[in-house]
Amino acid sequence: MGTFAPSPTETDATRLTDSHGRVIHDLRVSITDRCNYKCVYCRTGEHGAQFAELKIEEYLRLISLFVSLGITKVRLTGGEPLLRRGLIELVQQLARMRTSYGDPLSLALTTNGHLLDGLAQPLKDAGLHRVTVSMDAVEEPTFERITRVPGSFQAVLRGVRAAQAAGLTPVKINCVLLRGFNDDQVEGFAEFARRENVIVRFIEFMPLEEDRLWSPQIVVSLREIVDRINRVIPLVELPPNDPGETARRYTFADGRGEIGIIAPVTQAFCGACSRVRLTSDGKIRTCLFSQAEHDLYGRLRAGEGDAALREYITRTVDGKEARHHIGEPGFLKPSRSMVHIGG
Ligand code: SAM
Repeated sequence: MGTFAPSPTETDATRLTDSHGRVIHDLRVSITDRCNYKCVYCRTGEHGAQFAELKIEEYLRLISLFVSLGITKVRLTGGEPLLRRGLIELVQQLARMRTSYGDPLSLALTTNGHLLDGLAQPLKDAGLHRVTVSMDAVEEPTFERITRVPGSFQAVLRGVRAAQAAGLTPVKINCVLLRGFNDDQVEGFAEFARRENVIVRFIEFMPLEEDRLWSPQIVVSLREIVDRINRVIPLVELPPNDPGETARRYTFADGRGEIGIIAPVTQAFCGACSRVRLTSDGKIRTCLFSQAEHDLYGRLRAGEGDAALREYITRTVDGKEARHHIGEPGFLKPSRSMVHIGG
């Protein structure tokens, strides 16, 4: 397989922007729609995966086009990306790519962590920088009621520790809170963040699931999470790492540990959004809640050259939605759930 470095003519600094003046530098790529978990807030497990996957070379070609246009950060996701054959080779090739500014790409991956114990070091050696592990409870029975997979809690814990040992740091933990399922885990997660030296990020539940579970009442809000942790261990708000930061960050009053809260429902951050997504079947999604997908791969298959594909990406990103409309009258759920879109 060749190296997918942008050609010399592509190294001029470029910026991918949308019509609302946002600079888009963050690409999330789903590399499979298969998953070995059936998290209650994501997939039923009944519809099965569509096995809508491209070849590793095809993802590389599409990603290199985005990178030549100004993307500086790539996050691999799914489905479950660790299930994807060819992942290590993909990471190796991405680690060789240079941004249009001549720097290495920032490379991250989001995983359920089930297979991370064996893959953390190979991924680090391949050039991955960081992982985010999804973990929705710190107590085994609650965890496995959510994943619906026996033995998953211990596997993920081993995965988190392997990622720490391999230096895929800072390790972040994504936790989706659902009232009545795991909202009793909030305080336990604050302790966990401090004990395991990980950054725990609570994510408000979004209406993107296959089961029809979502309602405003089931969402645990940023305000409630902060108030509850504050009662146990006082929190101090931290400044954002960068203007596009989606999480509100907090440390504890003694300075040990960090948590973040991503509040797309109660405190939407669309104005600072710097992301676009590529689905596992090669479609561009300009918002998690887009009603339209843009078939980039179809154009590649039809033989369009790099210039035409770049022009298509630029035009599509320009049309990125101003914001989502969760909770508003007439809100429409996207036709595909998170497992297909790529979280
Ligand atoms: N399988 C990997 C994992 O478990 O992290 C990657 C894919 S998963 C779809 C990516 C992220 O989306 C996970 O952190 C998951 O918790 C989050 N997610 C899935 N459905 C969600 C929903 N309805 N609301 C909020 N976050 C969700």
